Amino acid sequence: MTRLALSIVVPCYNEEACLPELHRRLSAAAHETVGADHEIVLVNDGSRDASWQIMQALAAGDPHLVAVNLSRNHGHQLALTAGLDLAVGERILIIDADLQDPPELLPAMMREMDLAAADVVYGLRRSREGETAFKRGTAKLFYRLLSRATDTDIPVDTGDFRLISRRALDVFLSMPEQARFIRGMVAWLGFRQVPLPYDRDERFAGTTNYPLRKMVRFAFDALTSFSSTPLKLASHAGLLLSFGSLLLVVYIFAGWLSGRAVEGWTSLMLVVVALGAVQMFVLGVMGEYLGRLYSQSKHRPLYIVSDIRGGRTERPARLG
Ligand code: UDP
Ligand code: MG
Repeated sequence: MTRLALSIVVPCYNEEACLPELHRRLSAAAHETVGADHEIVLVNDGSRDASWQIMQALAAGDPHLVAVNLSRNHGHQLALTAGLDLAVGERILIIDADLQDPPELLPAMMREMDLAAADVVYGLRRSREGETAFKRGTAKLFYRLLSRATDTDIPVDTGDFRLISRRALDVFLSMPEQARFIRGMVAWLGFRQVPLPYDRDERFAGTTNYPLRKMVRFAFDALTSFSSTPLKLASHAGLLLSFGSLLLVVYIFAGWLSGRAVEGWTSLMLVVVALGAVQMFVLGVMGEYLGRLYSQSKHRPLYIVSDIRGGRTERPARLG
């Protein structure tokens, strides 16, 4: 397979108004950094506007442009995965179609990758222009919550805008999960990942494709693919309840001994309290097993080798 120095991968959904300007700015940035040795992979994620026609027209005029059409709308993360699967670059830039992330940052990202000998350079949002306070607020809350619930260090205030090395991408592509939270999966890879702070612009044109419904779904995908904390809640609640019910049992018995209790109340309460606690605990135990089963069923590679020195060095870095 022929490799190029750089691939730029862009998922596009109803972005007809952005595409020509996107192409112009991406192309300029790519030529400035690697010359002709690049490709731009535009993935049309089942757009309902003229995005696909415009992509085809652009591809006809630019040999560097690869236009990919998905069968229907698969969602941002899967469209991006499709593009990454097809990319042949030694380095891969992921960027949104709406020009919120400036393509002009590419040279700086390439330099940072060289200087820091990093496998991932991710854009860190210093500021977010033109987004509602609600979006900024929920995003902030979400990233803080997520980082508390997971063991993976997922950087806060980061989107999918990043430059990735070929070996990191190859490992990423070996992760078969269906519910994909790409920025988390990339963070999970490890290697050396460095931030590059930038100011996020307003959308060039059009409106956001992430209404509340999609944001919630995205948040659930992120939480459930990187944490089984929700599953464990039941076992924690069960333990707490069991302890509480012990105290109650003492209280109920005391009532019975003193003869204050109504006939039948003691036995009824004992059964209700004890059964509730036991049920909750058993549910929790099942959650623990389910959580382990779930993480196993993701079939992620067990480990990833970063460097091997001595002997044959041209081994692939992926041995999981
Ligand atoms: N996108 C996509 N499929 C979708 C929704 C969005 O490919 O179903 C693309 C969209 O074209 C853009 C990127 O994902 O390039 C991010 O979407 P958007 O800018 O609407 O999200 P926001 O920046 O508002 O979070
Ligand atoms: Mg956007």
